[in-house]
Amino acid sequence: MSSRRDFLEKLTVSAIGLPLLYNSADLFAATPAEPYDGPILKVAIMGLGGYGSRVAEAMQSCTRAKLVGLISGTPSKLVKWREKYDIPEKNCYNYETYDQIKDNPDIDAVYIITPNALHKEAALRVAKADKHVISEKPMGINAQEGQEMVDACKAAGVHLLVGYRMHFEPKTVAVIKMRQNGEFGKLNFFQGQSGFDIGDPTQWRLDKSLAGGGAMMDIGIYSINGARYMVGEEPIWVTAQETKTEPEKFKEGVDETIQFQLGFPSGVVASCLSTYNMSYLDRFFLTGDDGFVEMQPSTGYGPIEGRTNKGKLTQPHVTHQTLQMDGMAQLIYEGVQPIVPVDGEEGVKDLKIIDAIYKAIETGEKVTL
Ligand code: NAD
Repeated sequence: MSSRRDFLEKLTVSAIGLPLLYNSADLFAATPAEPYDGPILKVAIMGLGGYGSRVAEAMQSCTRAKLVGLISGTPSKLVKWREKYDIPEKNCYNYETYDQIKDNPDIDAVYIITPNALHKEAALRVAKADKHVISEKPMGINAQEGQEMVDACKAAGVHLLVGYRMHFEPKTVAVIKMRQNGEFGKLNFFQGQSGFDIGDPTQWRLDKSLAGGGAMMDIGIYSINGARYMVGEEPIWVTAQETKTEPEKFKEGVDETIQFQLGFPSGVVASCLSTYNMSYLDRFFLTGDDGFVEMQPSTGYGPIEGRTNKGKLTQPHVTHQTLQMDGMAQLIYEGVQPIVPVDGEEGVKDLKIIDAIYKAIETGEKVTL
């Protein structure tokens, strides 16, 4: 059985040989940028696990963001990472000491990359330490948690951003622009399929107390977020159906497979699948009166592949997390917004839909948003 990491790495293998010869900030510029000499977003990563490792590696190619600090409960990891990324000991913390980041001018932001149910408390503590918060998705395990995070960061006067890397991904951005320009005509239908075979039954992703749910929290959220940015509207109703084939593995509160439908104000309907028990599900399809786009893979680490009725999408692949972190630095220091927001409010919108999906399953009713 393949793990999530195997799955995502399969999607990214062809990216490995690609040289990072250019400044990622140049990607959208007409002419190559001057060497960058503006402010650098100095970031500490909290949670040195699988995705934290990927972000750290990608940040080595950033021009506007830099990995300068670490937060981990495992001393041996801190030693290894310090050596690898040349991080001073004074910028390393554990989960008991990281409130002291408040007194560390070397760190501007903390990127929270721990299990889902731990994001909220960490975000509140980081905001209290007057540092910007970047949280992985899902930003919390329900909309109420997300809103508490938004309120706390607002009160502290710090940014709260969510790790929505697809909002910086060139092919995704191009498709959103095509839709905004009306190139697909009046939209009718979106289909999102997000899933993989989860593997190891003992991992935190299958523990409700740490994951907050199951596949929906982890991978189904890509179809929710994707439906919103592909259609360009907020859904007004949700229906959903759950299938559980392995109740021993996917215990109470941990969803294995959910099919859900979203209705949008213009009449567009989305039909989506979220699963931890099927392979090769990473596909978006959007159709309108004048055109269509199909993307597969649509949200893996890339390269993203896609075609429209006009032909293949040819925008370059750049490591998503490199673009994301440079883009977030630009947002914080220059106020440059990505095509789709990556702020806390955006995260809360997805969590409200997740709450509604779980409610629709529980009640068997159509839930109005
Ligand atoms: P992981 O298990 O590989 O790493 C989690 C890290 O958190 C580990 O270093 C672990 O030691 C640490 N941790 C701290 N407290 C813990 C506790 N009480 N229990 C368990 N671990 C604890 O997981 P991951 O794949 O890195 O996922 C971390 C977060 O990143 C999740 O919220 C996930 O949704 C998100 N993620 C996002 C993407 C993306 O593409 N944006 C991809 C993968 C994961």
